[in-house]
Order: sequence, then structure tokens, then C-alpha cells
Amino acid sequence: MAAQRILVAEDDGPIRELVVHHLARDGFMAIEASDGSTALRIARDGTDLVVLDIGLPGLDGFEITRALRREGRQTPILILTARADEVDRVVGLELGADDYLTKPFSPREVVARVRAILRRSGSNHDPAPQVLHFGRLEIDEAAREVRIDGRDIGLKPREYSLLRVLADHIGVAMSREVLLQRVWGYDFDGDERTVDVHVRRLRKKLVEQHGLADCVQTLHGYGYKFLAG
Ligand code: CA
Repeated sequence: MAAQRILVAEDDGPIRELVVHHLARDGFMAIEASDGSTALRIARDGTDLVVLDIGLPGLDGFEITRALRREGRQTPILILTARADEVDRVVGLELGADDYLTKPFSPREVVARVRAILRRSGSNHDPAPQVLHFGRLEIDEAAREVRIDGRDIGLKPREYSLLRVLADHIGVAMSREVLLQRVWGYDFDGDERTVDVHVRRLRKKLVEQHGLADCVQTLHGYGYKFLAG
């Protein structure tokens, strides 16, 4: 069974990383967003659950919850809030979030709540295969295929995985170390320059060969960031 996809929408980097780390360790596929509009876009693409901070830049957690429910999406939502007095609004019938945690919370608690909500909502089915669309670029998870203008561009497995990990974290700065771990695995003892080499190959195929705008931004001395067209 494919790992369940959990969107973690939180603008506080250390908190987000902590939650993502614990979810990933528990076998979930955690996707990150650090602002409201990115969070809404990813949630609309389809995830099994959303861990949603109320105080997000752009759209806040209230607006995102309202938008998703108004569109008829029943994706379970676990709200994170710093203010106990927001809780009534959040879990009230008005908004329809599934559960909440007030900060500070332990990451284990988040994982436990996520499991409980998924159990309750009976969301143990395989999620529909995902196709991510970025203008002319399509990333097809089921086929492990990247298409431009509908045509497979023949990425190698690592190139595909690298692009996929970057695209699952739109606008999030990803260090070379983290990319190395997520794409090559924790046991891989290669050099971080391996990441650079693969980004160069990706750019060659996407930008040079197909004239796509460069969607992978280099963060010198750190890593890379995916920018959605
Ligand atoms: Ca916040």
C-alpha cells in the first residue's frame, strides 16, 4: 500500500520539520507547505490528511478549512493553534475541522492524533494516483513519469525521485543533506555533490532540451528550492 500522504502546513520551520520528521519515521509521506496558498493548492491536489496551522501567511488556517469544505472536500484536518480561545471556532460545526492541538504540543501527540483521525475517517484506502501539474510540466506518481507537453522526457529513477521530492515541497528550502536522505536514503554515504550533479541533469532535460523555465532555484551553500510556475 502506498504511504498515506499528510500535508503539514506550518510557517514555523523548526515546528514543521519536527512534525514532518516524526510522521516520516512513522511511515507517512509528509508534504510541507510554509504559506497558506501553497497549502491550499496541495490540499486540493489531494492528500489523506492535513495538519494545519491557524496562523499562516497568505491564507490562514480558517480560510483554508472553509475553502476546502465549501468545495465539498472531506479531507480530515488536524488544526494546530497557539490560542486556546480559537479552538471553539475551529472544531465547531462552522468549520468542520476534525481535531485540534494547542501549542506547545509533542510531535508524538501529533502522530497519535493523525492515526486516530485516519482510523475514524476510515481513510485506509489507497489514495488516487497523483499527477502534479505545473504548467507544461506534469509529474505522474503512478507511472513514475515526468511529461512535458504530454510527452515522457525519460528521467532516470534518481532524477525522477529528486524532482518529485522537490515538487512536493513547493517554495521550501531543501538542504542538500535532506535531499540526499530522501532520495538516496539514510544509508547512502555518497557526497552531497551527488545532489548537484543530478540537479544539473534535471536542468539539462527540463530547461535546455525542452525550453521549460527553470523551476529549481539554487540556494548557494545550502541546497535547492522548487518554484511552481
Ligand atoms: Ca504560524
